[in-house]
Amino acid sequence: MNLTILGSQGAIPKIGMYSTSLLLQISKYNILIDCCEGIQFQLRKNKIRLSRIEIILISHAHGDHYFGLIGLISTLSLLKRTKKLTVFCPTSVLKIIQAHIKFSQMKLNYELNLIGLTENKMINIFENDAFFIKSFPLNHSIYTNGFLIKEKFIKRKLILEKALHFDIDKIYFNKLTKGQNVLNSKGVEINYLDVTIEGDKPKSFAYCSDTAYNDDLINYVQDVDLLYCETTFLSNDQEKAINTLHSTTADAGKLAKKSNVKQLLIGHFSSRYDNYDLFLKEVSEIFPRVILSKEGKKIDI
Ligand SMILES: [Zn+2]
Ligand SMILES: [Zn+2]
Repeated sequence: MNLTILGSQGAIPKIGMYSTSLLLQISKYNILIDCCEGIQFQLRKNKIRLSRIEIILISHAHGDHYFGLIGLISTLSLLKRTKKLTVFCPTSVLKIIQAHIKFSQMKLNYELNLIGLTENKMINIFENDAFFIKSFPLNHSIYTNGFLIKEKFIKRKLILEKALHFDIDKIYFNKLTKGQNVLNSKGVEINYLDVTIEGDKPKSFAYCSDTAYNDDLINYVQDVDLLYCETTFLSNDQEKAINTLHSTTADAGKLAKKSNVKQLLIGHFSSRYDNYDLFLKEVSEIFPRVILSKEGKKIDI
């Protein structure tokens, strides 16, 4: 699982800096999380092929999180996409996209699978053999979801010398890594435990933007390997954060600490600030394993 930061800013983008958007690559899937104005340029700049995006997750209907979506949907059609594209978004965003398609008489070459989110509790929204995606409610001024993406079963690792020693044909190696016993060339049953070791622990990523802090968030993001939490404001602007239902550096640090996450990624910075080192400094006083969002940064999870 790895993450590319496409936008680090809050509602007002700056030159060379974009509103909050991330690309998560997991098990050959490309998942775009929020879709800022200018997303197509950022995807191309970061050498991410537009055609490889399978799923888009939109947190809420504030423009900084979806203004790039209609343009991207249109360009994919002009590029002759035929593969289905699935978009999970609030029903408000779904209606905006449907209205645009209708009034512009846009004809799409591919199936656009728009799924409107309405729940106010954590639910499973997508699942395949390799991972699942859950949405959960955030605490913002309009209906907003966070997302949890977690790997499922990770295959066991084969010890090749042992497999060869037991005279097992290589066509059975995959079965062994899935935890199944197989017969060797002499017809003797070989226990998978004798020729494999445990695989890597499944990894997880949680996304919280935009939101004010509340204790409910801890249940949703507990123990994840990487937590994205917005820090629109520094701590001395706490009043602004309370009034607009955003988080401060202190809020993000508290959430990461109370949730026992491995690493914290912060972003969605208000355009009033230029010194991002202050964000790192303030958060790290509460939670030291913190990473600053920056356009083009890649993180292995
Ligand atoms: Zn925002
Ligand atoms: Zn917002």
